[in-house]
Amino acid sequence: MKALVLEEYNKLVYKDVPDPVINDNEVLVKVMACGICGSDVHGMDGSTGRRIPPMIMGHEASGVIVKTGKDVTIWKSDDKVTFDSTVYPLNDWFTLEGLYNLSDNREVLGVSPGTFKRDGAFAEYIAIPQHILYKIPEGVTFEQAAMVEAVAVALHSINISGLKTGDKCVVVGAGMIGVFIIKLLKISGASKIIAIDINPKRLEQAKNAGADHTFLSTRANLAEEISVLTYTRGADLSFEAVGKSDSVNIAIEVLRKGGKTILVGNVSTKVDFPLQKVVTRELKVLGSCAIRGEYEVVLDLLKAGKISVDDQISVVAPLSEGAIWFNKLYKKEEELNKVILIP
Ligand SMILES: [Zn+2]
Repeated sequence: MKALVLEEYNKLVYKDVPDPVINDNEVLVKVMACGICGSDVHGMDGSTGRRIPPMIMGHEASGVIVKTGKDVTIWKSDDKVTFDSTVYPLNDWFTLEGLYNLSDNREVLGVSPGTFKRDGAFAEYIAIPQHILYKIPEGVTFEQAAMVEAVAVALHSINISGLKTGDKCVVVGAGMIGVFIIKLLKISGASKIIAIDINPKRLEQAKNAGADHTFLSTRANLAEEISVLTYTRGADLSFEAVGKSDSVNIAIEVLRKGGKTILVGNVSTKVDFPLQKVVTRELKVLGSCAIRGEYEVVLDLLKAGKISVDDQISVVAPLSEGAIWFNKLYKKEEELNKVILIP
């Protein structure tokens, strides 16, 4: 088969590789679309240490089943599917507690951090364990299905936030995940959605996604502005979708006493932390990791037309041009949201 192989750091080559071999509990999926994730772009140069070459990246994908292992019962050839980016063990303590996204020995598709290596979906075919598959409903395209992973990450942060109808929410960072958080908050009952970003173009995006108010993060009296919009109390919830000191501090700064911030972004390994503010205002700080089964709901919302993802797809290009698009994303020459590659 053809695949986009990371042969060495910063060197992607479109070439022939052996077809994947499936285990008894796996299906072979013919990949129809695979999105380039920010973590792939950062992984390409070796800076994250999670894409050790040679390997095939790609974990935001969709396709059609072409072969099933002998222990596969509910899936059959021609089924249109998308799949979780995490391959989790079924007999793990955390999985059995309903926390599969935190299970020990879980692996991520298209990731190779040294402890495991799993080839991803920038290829014509990929082997997928049956328990992480989701059926694509009628009316949802393969490109849209390749966006489900990103929406599911956003939905997971809302699901664990304890959001109540009428909550006033701040979203810090209006990149793709931030935009999906805004869209989902809108249909989840938040009464006020305030977006904050360093980039005016992203704030425009946030507004189109349903934010009621937008502010540049450089604004001097940010906390006061938020206070005015929240009966002088501050936000009930804030979602941080960047992962840097400045944005984490804003997410904490805008909360009311007793409020909660949900940290989704994780670009930095460490950030400055306003300890006294968190302690004296009894703030709650919660991390949100990946996805815990939110795929099905997102696919339902897409089918029902209750959430849109097309506005976040900037480019659909052939996989053979993958290296070109990776480089554009790496160099940030132009404002690109999702680039989807088609094998
Ligand atoms: Zn991703």
